[in-house]
Amino acid sequence: MPHTLPALGYAYDALEPHIDARTMEIHHTKHHQAYVDRLNAALAKRPELDGKDVAWLLRNLDKLPEDIRSDVRNHGGGVWNHAFFWKTLKKGTKPHGPVLDAINRQWGGFDAFKKAFSEAAMGRFGSGWAWLGLDTDGRIHIGSTANQDSPVSEGHTPLLAIDVWEHAYYLKYQNRRNEYVEAFWNVIDWDEVDRRYQEAKK
Ligand code: MN
Repeated sequence: MPHTLPALGYAYDALEPHIDARTMEIHHTKHHQAYVDRLNAALAKRPELDGKDVAWLLRNLDKLPEDIRSDVRNHGGGVWNHAFFWKTLKKGTKPHGPVLDAINRQWGGFDAFKKAFSEAAMGRFGSGWAWLGLDTDGRIHIGSTANQDSPVSEGHTPLLAIDVWEHAYYLKYQNRRNEYVEAFWNVIDWDEVDRRYQEAKK
């Protein structure tokens, strides 16, 4: 059964003015869809992998047949990363709860965390992502990945992500990634980030 594009779950203009509707629409219906299509094209060669979900494929890249491994890494990563990204975006929530306590313990305050996460987003050369997540020992940390590599492949549990591919911001911000990263702090769904943190810590 082929993989499908998940619904965004909100309107394309829901994150205006921080992320504009046109960017969201193209990002979801063109870029995310293309990752879905290319993953399906790769998997069509390997029917024995029917029914494996994307997270499973990403966790087991080293077990996949070599002829599809890099396509699954790139396009499967694109499928998973974007589906995750959409679910953690919302206007109007504030950091709170156990995840905020963990952030404050790890970085000594929210401002220091914000600075470190923004630096990870700015410091990712070329295309990729910055992440907040839990490592294999359950420790909260900031990381970044190139291209569509996913922390899921490392056995990590992502809590929050920023897509720093130019396609995520170029229409509104052009070369000004710094303005996009600053605007991103207005569209993080902290209720969802905290829910995922508590779920992972159970
Ligand atoms: Mn993207």
